[in-house]
Amino acid sequence: MTWEERWHPLREEWVIVAAHRQDRPWSGETVSHDSDARPSYVADCYLCPGNARVSGAVNPNYDGIFVFDNDHPCVGLDAPAPAQSESSVYRNRSAQGIARVVCYSPRHDLSLALLATSEVEGLITAWQREYVDLGGRAEIDHVLIFENKGEVVGVSNPHPHCQIYATNFVFKTIETEARASQRYSDETGRTLLADVIAAEQGDGRRIVSENETAIAFLPYFARYAYEVFVAPKRACPSIAALTDTEARDLAEVLKDTVVRFDNLWQMPFPYVMPLHQAPTDGGDYRAFHFHIEFHPPLRRPHLLKYLAGPEIGGGNFLSDTSPEEKAAELRALPNTHYSLRT
Ligand SMILES: [Zn+2]
Ligand SMILES: [Zn+2]
Repeated sequence: MTWEERWHPLREEWVIVAAHRQDRPWSGETVSHDSDARPSYVADCYLCPGNARVSGAVNPNYDGIFVFDNDHPCVGLDAPAPAQSESSVYRNRSAQGIARVVCYSPRHDLSLALLATSEVEGLITAWQREYVDLGGRAEIDHVLIFENKGEVVGVSNPHPHCQIYATNFVFKTIETEARASQRYSDETGRTLLADVIAAEQGDGRRIVSENETAIAFLPYFARYAYEVFVAPKRACPSIAALTDTEARDLAEVLKDTVVRFDNLWQMPFPYVMPLHQAPTDGGDYRAFHFHIEFHPPLRRPHLLKYLAGPEIGGGNFLSDTSPEEKAAELRALPNTHYSLRT
């Protein structure tokens, strides 16, 4: 089974080949589509408290957030040294890194949108701790924290959780954002995303949620119909740099955003949610402005935005919706979750 990183010389990026993960557990196709009908505990869920995982490890009877090393890691400190690549045009190396899972709650039936704001705050604290812990290690160049939500994005278990890939390289999008942010800072003396936020505040039409120190907006340049950025207004390179007040405000805006997503079609709203944070490879990333991105794959209920010719073939997005209209839709929704309304 191949487990290594291979360099893509045309795209100039690493591809993680983790063919050893083919036997990982999959329960995505057998679960109910309606998370409201889910029980709070499932005996064969490998993320519920007290249950055994495939590795044989048994989850503690946790009552808050539970973090553990992924049993089927795509990057690992024990990844094998790869065989020499077949040709001098090819490069490969060991898939070194640390992969973790963060369970948001012992409750199988909750999601980010159903957590209390204080619990979202606790999750932010856990993200801060993981970024500092993993990012502080010499062998880790970048900490990618992300949540995949919904069967349409391939989630294998509906228990609310996110994942962390702490890798020996910087993911391509982060590298691009860091380069753009640095260039902007060199040219203007200002921070790119802070200026984007100022532009969004100046216009106002695409703001979804906002409080004193945090904001959620559908950017002017959104690629997906309901793409939303959630960010602290102050340019912090990572989540670890937030003050307690900023963390609390971010929790509030984050929760408000995901509640609106669920309220849109009164169904659990699928998305890919990466945290974009400064790399931890020792570089100077003071110009990087931490933010959370939501990439929802649906344009309408059960209607996927298919990535096709322009997106997959060419690498540029063709958007069929207007960010101004979509932001207005989200803004007009109530901020109490539909399942909790009477
Ligand atoms: Zn569970
Ligand atoms: Zn980003």
